[in-house]
Amino acid sequence: MRAAALFAIAFAAAHPAAAPPAAGQPAAEWAAAAGPTPGPARAIGSTALGCLAGGVALPPEGPGWQAVRLSRNRHWGHPELLRFVESFAESTRARGFPDLWIGDLAQPRGGPMPWGHASHQTGLDVDIWLDLSPKPPAGPATRGARESIEVPSLVLPGEAGVDPARWTRRHAELLRLAAQHPSVDRVLVNHAIKRELCRTHAGEEWLRRVRPWRGHDSHAHIRLSCPADSPDCVPAPPVPTGDGCDASLEWWLSEAARRPSPRPPGPPPRLPAACAALLRGGG
Ligand SMILES: [Zn+2]
Repeated sequence: MRAAALFAIAFAAAHPAAAPPAAGQPAAEWAAAAGPTPGPARAIGSTALGCLAGGVALPPEGPGWQAVRLSRNRHWGHPELLRFVESFAESTRARGFPDLWIGDLAQPRGGPMPWGHASHQTGLDVDIWLDLSPKPPAGPATRGARESIEVPSLVLPGEAGVDPARWTRRHAELLRLAAQHPSVDRVLVNHAIKRELCRTHAGEEWLRRVRPWRGHDSHAHIRLSCPADSPDCVPAPPVPTGDGCDASLEWWLSEAARRPSPRPPGPPPRLPAACAALLRGGG
C-alpha cells in the first residue's frame, strides 16, 4: 500500500473530521450548563470526547491578550490552560507583538459543543487568532466590538500556499513560541501554513509539534498535554517524530483530503461515565 494511503487510514482513525454524536447527553445539554462544577479542576477523557470538572473562566483581557466573543460562554478551561494563555501572551508582548485575540476555550463543564468544534471538550484547547495587527485598547468599552471580529485567511484559495500579501515572519515566530511552550502538546494549523513553515524552518525541533489540519487558516488551535492533576485525562496519540515536512503533507492536497472522513462503524462513542455525573452535579 502506498505511504499516502497508509497515512490516510491512520489519519482518519486518529482524527475523525467531525465528532460523531456521543451517546448520552446531547451537546445542547452541555452548552446549557451555565457554570462549572465546584471542586478541584480535572480534565476527564479526551479533547474530542470528554469534559471538565472545576473549570475556571478566562478573564476578558490581560497583559498581551484580549478574549473575543465572550457571549458564547466558551472561555472556560483547566487552570493550566489559563496559565498558558497568560504566560504565552506575556512572552509575545515582551517580544513586541500586539495583543493576541483569544478565541474559544471550552464550555463551563467542557463536553461536546452543538456547533463549531469537534474537540475543545476538556479545557485543554484554545484558539488563538493569527492576527498581528494593532488592537484597540483593552477594556469594557471594546468588549462589545470583540463579539464580531473577522480575521482574513492567511491561506490562498485552493490552499496551495500561504497568501504572501498577509503571511509574515512574525506569524512563524508566533507559532514557534507556542510550539516551544512546555505545556503545549501540539499546535494545529492549516496544512498550507505547515508547508510554509517547512519551507523556511525545516529540521527545527519545534516544527514537530506544529501539525497540519483543515481550516485553521486564520487561527491556530493550541492543545495542552494532560495536566499532572488529571489521572482520567486521555492523551492524544503521540506526535510523530521528525519535523513532519514529508510526503504526508501532500496528502492534504488530494481529493481524499477534501472529503469528510467516513464515520467509523459501530455504535457512537460514549463520554466517560464520570462526565454524566458531572453534568448533573451542582455548581
Ligand atoms: Zn480550535
